[in-house]
Amino acid sequence: GSLPGWEEVDRLVVEAHRDALETHEGEVATYIPRLASVDPELFGVSVAEVDGAVHTAGDAHATFSIQSISKAFVYALVCEELGHDTVRERIGVNNTGLAFNSVMAIELNDGHPMNPMVNAGAIATTALVPARSTDERWERIQRGLSAFAGRRLELDGEVYTSEADTNQRNRAIGILLQAYGRIDADPLAAVDVYTRQCSLLVSATDLAVMGATLADGGVNPVTGERVVAASVARDTLAVLASTGLYERSGEWLFEIGLPGKSGVAGGIVTVSPGKGGIGVFSPRLDRVGNSVRGQRATRFLSRSLGLDVFASD
Ligand code: GLN
Repeated sequence: GSLPGWEEVDRLVVEAHRDALETHEGEVATYIPRLASVDPELFGVSVAEVDGAVHTAGDAHATFSIQSISKAFVYALVCEELGHDTVRERIGVNNTGLAFNSVMAIELNDGHPMNPMVNAGAIATTALVPARSTDERWERIQRGLSAFAGRRLELDGEVYTSEADTNQRNRAIGILLQAYGRIDADPLAAVDVYTRQCSLLVSATDLAVMGATLADGGVNPVTGERVVAASVARDTLAVLASTGLYERSGEWLFEIGLPGKSGVAGGIVTVSPGKGGIGVFSPRLDRVGNSVRGQRATRFLSRSLGLDVFASD
């Protein structure tokens, strides 16, 4: 089936937003100092359909740093360049069951980054973006993520500086990957590009369009541009299904039944293959780093729009 009619989707997006406003649970991320000063009440919900229709509620145009959600889209760009088998072998597709910044996940697996949605795998993935220089690598990522969003995404310089000044752990992960021979590029330069990609500013509506591009087989439904091949969009969604919400990826799939990816600034993108993308933004996070209101609004929409891929009715 497809989505309900335009007015019904519009109404449900407003209702999902109103319903999730009831919770005030969770805490804003503070380990990146700049993230601590965000207004915790900002809350936006957006749905983009594969025909290009966009529905919004609340602060759907407020911008925030994309953080870990960038991992999904950089992964897609690298799959497009290097292909399914190479990326599978170099990065992996298995859940670690550990925190996104875990060093143990690397140590326990002979230096293998395990999957592209944890920091180790994401830094290794960024290092695989073909480029002659660090600047070129960054430009390709910025251009690629912008193509997913259908508009030029800009860096939040304050978030970038704040994370770059405090990311000793990610730098350690980069160097550990190098020690295991899992990264060929300069590891600190790769971590720097990774930190930049995490600092790109998006809105809930941008995330919805980025998700709808994956839902639409790699074609941005608003601009009509093909960003990646349909097989790459498919592979990206398969990875997200088991790894997109950190240690809560199983609970997410159980409750929502769709591939998604969260970030510590409070964004979540969710994809309903063939139908559309959901973008949400609310800064208060659960213990593992997923937006509390974002999860609730997405669950509401998955159920009311009939999107759960495991449901037969
Ligand atoms: N830039 C953040 C980091 O590396 C992203 C983490 C996240 O969103 N989970 O810590």
